[in-house]
Amino acid sequence: MSSLTPDLFASLYARCADASPALSSLALPDNAVHRLWTVCDLLIDNAKRFNLTAILEPEEIVRKHVADSLIPLALLRGNGIDPAACRTILDVGTGAGFPLLPWACALPESVALTGLDATAKKISHIRASAEAAGLSNVAAVQGRAEEAAREGMREHFDLVTARAVAALPVLCELCAPLVKVGGAFAALKSHAEDEIRDAAPAAAILGFDEASPIAYELPGGDARTLVVYRKTRPTPAKYPRRYAEITKQPLA
Ligand code: SAH
Repeated sequence: MSSLTPDLFASLYARCADASPALSSLALPDNAVHRLWTVCDLLIDNAKRFNLTAILEPEEIVRKHVADSLIPLALLRGNGIDPAACRTILDVGTGAGFPLLPWACALPESVALTGLDATAKKISHIRASAEAAGLSNVAAVQGRAEEAAREGMREHFDLVTARAVAALPVLCELCAPLVKVGGAFAALKSHAEDEIRDAAPAAAILGFDEASPIAYELPGGDARTLVVYRKTRPTPAKYPRRYAEITKQPLA
């Protein structure tokens, strides 16, 4: 067990909720705080071995992983997208499971969440975390987003999210093909104005409406932007291209 006890976790979480109206508005299931603690406990234990995160201090884990994952969930709801009403959610490049695992702790079991990552050891860690926390609504898949869009996940998800994976012009091409028409893509970003502008042509080509950015602050003051794209048209079959092409020549 790590130095993060359940009591310490609960008090750090309560402090974040006090500082964030969005976080405090989130109605969590009864066992969610204990599940969130379990996820963080295992993250600290496995972090060095699996190279999962540089953030190891308990207060920072709660702020930068848990609150940073859950505040967007509350903001989506306030902006007309209810993640609890989604049947399928995908987290692209989920890494150690963020925002995937906090979302799974906070959402009802009726929501099927999938985490996708290119790295096998991260997928193993997510499976172990989901099992330890008793999360039956989480699947973890090893693979690349641009390949998954050609292999059965195309236009499959009501909501796709991603945090810290790529700049928006690249990220839109990785994620748009995986979103159902009528669904949405929610990118978790810090400052995003330039990326949103640069990604506008790509978003339009890929079937998204114009971006709706929602600016907010993490407890402690770091600036964040939740960038929401609603998908209203199918993604043309030629996208996504191969990863080297996507990154060498982002759609413009
Ligand atoms: N979302 C997590 C991890 C960010 S690190 C967090 O915010 O903490 C970025 C992760 O994206 C890495 O684990 C990497 O393996 C994964 N990744 C990058 N490009 C990818 C792609 N094209 N398909 C799938 N996973 C990808």
